Formats: sequence, structure tokens, C-alpha cells
Amino acid sequence: MALIAAAGKAATAAEAVAPPPKLVLFMAIDGFPQEQFVKYYDQLADGGLKLLLDKGAWYGNNHYSHATTYTGVGHATLLSCAHPYKHGVIGNDWIDKQTKKRVYSTEDPRHKYLDEETPDHAGTSPFNIKVTTVGDELIYANGKSKVIAIAGKDRSSIGLAGQFSVAYLHSTTTGRFITSDYYMAAYPEWWTAFYANKPQDKFFGQTWTLSMPDEAYARSVPDNQPWSTNYKGLGVKFPHPIDGGGASDKPGKGYYDATMWTPFGDLLMLDFVKAAIDGENLGRNPSGAPDLLALSWTSHDYVNHLFGPESRQSHDQTVRLDRVFADLFKFIDERVGLDNVLITLSADHGFMNIPEYSSSRRLDAGRIDPEAMINDVNAALSKQYGDGKYVTTWWNPNLYVDYAMLAERKLDKVEVEEAIASFLREYPGVEAVFTRTQLERGQMPATRLAKQVTLAWHQKISGDIVIMNKPNWYLFAKPKGYASTHGSPWAYDTNVPLAMYGPAWIAPGKYGDSETVDLARTVAHILNVRPPNGCEGSVLTEMLR
Ligand SMILES: [Zn+2]
Repeated sequence: MALIAAAGKAATAAEAVAPPPKLVLFMAIDGFPQEQFVKYYDQLADGGLKLLLDKGAWYGNNHYSHATTYTGVGHATLLSCAHPYKHGVIGNDWIDKQTKKRVYSTEDPRHKYLDEETPDHAGTSPFNIKVTTVGDELIYANGKSKVIAIAGKDRSSIGLAGQFSVAYLHSTTTGRFITSDYYMAAYPEWWTAFYANKPQDKFFGQTWTLSMPDEAYARSVPDNQPWSTNYKGLGVKFPHPIDGGGASDKPGKGYYDATMWTPFGDLLMLDFVKAAIDGENLGRNPSGAPDLLALSWTSHDYVNHLFGPESRQSHDQTVRLDRVFADLFKFIDERVGLDNVLITLSADHGFMNIPEYSSSRRLDAGRIDPEAMINDVNAALSKQYGDGKYVTTWWNPNLYVDYAMLAERKLDKVEVEEAIASFLREYPGVEAVFTRTQLERGQMPATRLAKQVTLAWHQKISGDIVIMNKPNWYLFAKPKGYASTHGSPWAYDTNVPLAMYGPAWIAPGKYGDSETVDLARTVAHILNVRPPNGCEGSVLTEMLR
């Protein structure tokens, strides 16, 4: 009886399987916490974020599982469904164990940008990413699918593009979305035609003003705050100029750079994305195979760094980005038909409130200075073990220990690590400290935080002492580089959107708990391709038709 019932259910399910989408539009907003996805709902346009919120499925309690919520890490996770301990992108930067030099997560000196200068440490290939993505598995499965990633940041685009796809990233030198010779030998014709008339110059001379009447921003912190960052010549209040500090009377590096720190950056990317969709004929693959377009919208992260997610600037940027999405979805509908498209939305990390804003609300908040921390810990250890630079370097959130010096001096490695950790556990703003020995031997406490750190830590790449800051405490390379940042294991950094739209595959509604790694696993499931090789996500069956 049970057998018959099971067979009957399977037959019904098989009949209900829809053909895969013609296009997967896989989108991330850089630095976009879940709270901002829903916070301005009443001000959203029809057909933008509301398409996902009203007609799609979304998880209100979706979180990253790793502790290191940085851009490179999140983007390497998004389409691979792998945690950092497998994908190997343990930060935006780290120190190479052999050379003792800085490695940028997507750098590869063997590859250069096409048609323009390649700065030192520029992102040019997925060399440091140790796993495959859904796009890679799609290409492996049929050999016909086109997979393209476009983002403002190289580490975002390259992370999403995986091993076999094409990555376009924004150049602050020329204001164009460019690629490297890892991905192609020469630009396609559509790219050359698109940039022939310098469309990237079209906003020069404009300023960023509010898009709605003043009273529409009542729920956000007003502009012109003492804690905002004055960066790239943008100033701290509306209207924000985008000429890069007025250094030049014609478009140049200052303008190309400043533009990306405002909503104009999203508009520039929208133009390029449309050109790519038409140029590559995405979603209309002659073989019938699904194409995948992965986009990461960078400007939101920059705005949050300078003004905080609580700010009027961030509010306006979100509402403007929603209009960009409505425009893009309409464009795709006209060409591919939205019924044939699977749209997904997530983020690479959330964001903290600006510490001084948190302090003004009587929360325990502050800023940690990593260089001062290194000096303090070395001074303390020098008293105990003799003069020396025991901790050499900092890259978020790792300290690097000079083990060669410990061996020379015949000092016990575990004892010194523990001395460093004990000192730092009492340091202002520090929540928890874990050592290499603890992580290697699995001597971690049975806490959620320790699990988050374990998933984030790669034995061969990560540093030796891992520091977790207290909530609302800022921990980044320069304590006052930005007003606000991200990178912590706290919920404001880990809770990001996980939303999907696609009437043929997705049962609309508001759902509860998920992990960000479940997103790519579910997309692979819908596409009927292998899970990426490092994938640890689950299929979100409850939201599937
Ligand atoms: Zn980011």
C-alpha cells in the first residue's frame, strides 16, 4: 500500500516538472541587509523589488553561515554554495604563507586587462577560488549555455563568474566595464560599439539629489552628520557632487570613481547590462539551453560605508536601485518574457550601523584600531617572552604570528598563541579570539559563533589568531577609513535577502529560515545540473512548485 502511494506521488511530481528557465538572472546587491529589502516597501515601484516580494518567494531569516562577512568571501559563496573553508576566499586579502606578501583575493599577475593598464593586485582571474559555481556546472552539462557576470567590483564579478564564465568589472581608470585576457582575447563587437560614444561620461556635471520629497525620508537619519565620511569629493550632504572633488573640468578618473559611490553607478551598470543582454542574445540561446546572467550592484555598499544603512542617502539609493530593477525586468520581459526567467536576489553581506550613531542611542559601540592592537599585543608579549614582533600583520579578521621566530627562540607555539589570545580577549571591543591550534585540533567551543569561525577558516590560507569584534564595534584595516563597515558574525551582517521569482518553478510567499548557500543549490536543482563541487547548501523544496 505504501509502495503504491509513493509511486503515485512520484508520477504526479514528474508531470509537474516545468522545463528549466531560458535565463537565470542571478542578482546580488553589495552590502544589502534583509532589513533594507523590506524597509521602504511603501515607496517601491511596481515591478522592481516588489516583483520578488509580492510575486516571488523570500526568506526573512536567511543568513550567511560564515563569520567573515566581506565582499570577496560572500561573492565566492553566492553561486558556489560553498563555505570559505572550501572555496578558499577567506577575505578580500590575506598574507601568503611562503612569500609573506599580501594577496588580493582575485589577483592573478599572469593576466592583464584588455585595452587598458592593469594596476598592481588588480582582480583578473578566479585563480584563488578553489571550487566551481552553478554557471560552471551549467556549461559542463550542455556546453552551450552562456554565463556572464557583471559587477562594479572585480572580486564580485570574478566570484560570480566562477571558472568557465566571463566576468566584466568596472574600471575607475576609464569608467568602462572591462575584462581580462583570462576571459577573452579581444572584446566582442557589441562591447566596442557600446563604448564608441563614451556613454560613461553622460552624468558628468550632475549632482546626486533626493528623489522624493523631504518628508518621505522621515524614517531615516538626516544627511550632514558629523560621523559621515567625506570621500571622493562627495561631501556629506545633499546635493552630492560627482566630479571627484572638482579636479578636472572634463570626465576623468575622479569622476569615474566618484560615480560608483552614488546611484549613478547603478545607472551606468544598467546601460551596460542591457547592451550585454542584446549583444550576447541572453535568454534566447539557439540551442535552447538556459543562459545565466549574474549581476552584483556595487553602489549600495559604497553608500552604506560612507553614510550607514540608517541614513537618508542609503534610503534614497535603495529606492533608486528599485527603479533600476523595474527598468531591467521590463527590458528582459520585452526580450525573453519574464515567464521564462528565474530571478534571484541576495547580497554578499549586510551592514552595521555607524558606531557613533549606535553610541548616540546608548549602545555599546566603538572602533578597534588593528595597528594599535598589534603594537599592544607585541608590547605585552615582549614583557613575558623578551623583545620581539610576535604578531607581524593584520588582515581582517586574522593576525599572523611569526612562528619561525618562536621556533628560533624555542618558545612553545601553543603557549604563545594562548598568551596572545588571553591578552586580546580583554581588549576593548573584542568579543572572542580563536587560535590556529584550537581550529586545527577542533578544540572549538560548542557555540554558534565558533561554528561560524570554523566555516570561515581555511587551514592553508587563513591567519593564526582570529578576532571577532563585539556587536556595533567597527573592525577594519583603518579604524576611521569609513563611517560604517561589515565583516562580523552578527545578525546585521549575516541576515541578507534570499528571494526568487519565476512563476513556473517558485511558489510565492514569505518563508522563514534558510542559509545563503541554499540559494545556489536550489538554482542548480531547478536547472537539473550537478551541484557545484564544494556546495553545502540544501534545496529549498518548500518554495518549489
Ligand atoms: Zn560587499
